[in-house]
Amino acid sequence: MGAGEFDLIQACFEGEGGSPRPGTRIGIGDDASVHRPEPGMELVVSTDSAIESIHWPTDFPLVRAADRAVCAALSDLAAMGAEAMCAWLNVMARDREAIVAMGEGATAALARHDVELAGGDTCRSPCNALSVTVAGQLPEGTAMRRDAAGEGDALWLIGKLGFHSLGLQQWLGGRKDGYFVHYLDVIKPRLSAGVRLRELGVKCCIDVSDGLLQDAGHIAAASRLALDIDLSRLPGWDLLCARASEKHAIRAVAGGGEDYALLFAAPPSLRFLEGFALKIGRCSVGSGVTLRVGERPVDAAELSGAGYDHFA
Ligand code: ADP
Ligand code: MG
Repeated sequence: MGAGEFDLIQACFEGEGGSPRPGTRIGIGDDASVHRPEPGMELVVSTDSAIESIHWPTDFPLVRAADRAVCAALSDLAAMGAEAMCAWLNVMARDREAIVAMGEGATAALARHDVELAGGDTCRSPCNALSVTVAGQLPEGTAMRRDAAGEGDALWLIGKLGFHSLGLQQWLGGRKDGYFVHYLDVIKPRLSAGVRLRELGVKCCIDVSDGLLQDAGHIAAASRLALDIDLSRLPGWDLLCARASEKHAIRAVAGGGEDYALLFAAPPSLRFLEGFALKIGRCSVGSGVTLRVGERPVDAAELSGAGYDHFA
């Protein structure tokens, strides 16, 4: 541990990110941070890792990769309906330049969403990586869960699906000026939408990070219901099909990850403002997920291997 490390931590992390929270008794700079929960509130905590060559291509800018890593972590708080409060950043870097770049991207994302940087760790590593822990709060017993969909509920979506996956394919294929590539720029964690859904009384929500088939499958399994989703109702579906063909659009939406839309179930009586959420399906007695394009069910062969699995 040379002085260089502490100088770097001070320069890159201390005082960066969003504003300090009133509940933070001891913030960044000590051995640990100390927090006082607000009365009647529950703490919501999530952690996520992002690793070069696994979560972003090696030739992707580190600043943007780190920004994305923070936003991906915050998206989990959005899915629970939590108000984001604090983050802890573990930065694993090949060299000083990588620390500076990842620090810049990560703290910019935290500042944008006004999330306090309450601590972290910085170390050298053979491979650039970040691990982001985030904490938020919500009123006791109101967290939106995967196991809370009800029979007859409608399925709604906030945000787009498939665009990131098609952008990544273009990037990896060397078409860095491709139409979809700019969807790799920033992740929008749907924090205010998540809070609003929870306040409206929505009980069941998930953020779609690993493709619609897999993540809708989590709701189906946890809630013990069958989910039926019409892909043609997705935002931008016609555009996806026009630009990438229906076959590629289906695979990108079903199996491509990292779009961070919110998928939630709510009784059909619950209505949402035009443009806030799109109704894309429903829940019924049974199990599993059926994807359709209009009336046509998508068959298994069209979906084989869809959904990202690190150990498949
Ligand atoms: P310790 O050795 O006690 O774990 P460190 O020397 O690693 O502490 O870190 C000093 C302070 O800087 C701690 O408060 C720690 O939380 C903070 N810190 C270190 N690295 C980071 C980082 N990447 N992001 C945010 N805070 C960090
Ligand atoms: Mg210590």
